[in-house]
Amino acid sequence: MNFGKYEFAPVVQKKLTDLLSYGRMPHSVLISGGDGRLREETAEYISAYAVCTAEDRPCFNCRACHKATERIHPDIEFVKGDPDSKKQIYSKKVLDELTEGMAVRPNEAERRVYVFLDADEKLPAVSQNALLKTLEEPSADILFILTCKNPSFLLETVLSRCAELALPVTSDFSAEAVALAEELALAVTDINEYKLMTVAYKLTDKTIASQALSALRELMGDCLLTAVGGTPKNPLSAKLVRRLTREKLLGLISTLDSALKKLESNVNMNLLSVWLCTEFRRIIWQK
Ligand SMILES: [Zn+2]
Repeated sequence: MNFGKYEFAPVVQKKLTDLLSYGRMPHSVLISGGDGRLREETAEYISAYAVCTAEDRPCFNCRACHKATERIHPDIEFVKGDPDSKKQIYSKKVLDELTEGMAVRPNEAERRVYVFLDADEKLPAVSQNALLKTLEEPSADILFILTCKNPSFLLETVLSRCAELALPVTSDFSAEAVALAEELALAVTDINEYKLMTVAYKLTDKTIASQALSALRELMGDCLLTAVGGTPKNPLSAKLVRRLTREKLLGLISTLDSALKKLESNVNMNLLSVWLCTEFRRIIWQK
């Protein structure tokens, strides 16, 4: 499968390949987890796959692919929410209008694609039920793509009709926080003990500290996965696991959880840095 301009992580590429290359195209896909931008890009990618006219789909060369990635393909609709509703929800009115259009044959492609972004927030139960009628009697020329952060907000009946593509959880940490987290991770594994102290003292701002420690926790989780043979999401993990055993990683993660709890209360940031250094060192240097 071609991924063109889409810079999906290997784990996402694998999930897309599993979903699309074997067997038939599903009638409805639920893209869950990840962050909003990744969910939307994945939906756009699948919509291009659905309309591409080449043999090896999606080719990103044919007219259909170009139209899909430019969001001007007449058979792909990123459904717009109800302008009369404050949160632009996909109201019953929106669904009723859509259902009328669904009876019409696609214009150019083999199928029509309807994308509902943020279905957990914007697709109320009444509209899910309206959608269910079509989901239960799927037509070969219609594909529904729903995206959501949390599938538990969708009706069981809707979920059971969808092929789910669960994206890895990524958090919206600021670039500064991510950089600090990576600096901390490298300092933890540095032979020079003072490195850690110097970096830990950069944890002065509560908001950034909280994001940095959460990002570090995520990175340690990725290391754990890498340690048991998984594909690292962050290339840094491959380097870090050479110095961190599974036990040490678990120790670091539990320390980070305690630190994040402390941050929620009114902790003094200097004391927190000192405490973190002591705990991290104890974990790293213990035999
Ligand atoms: Zn194409």
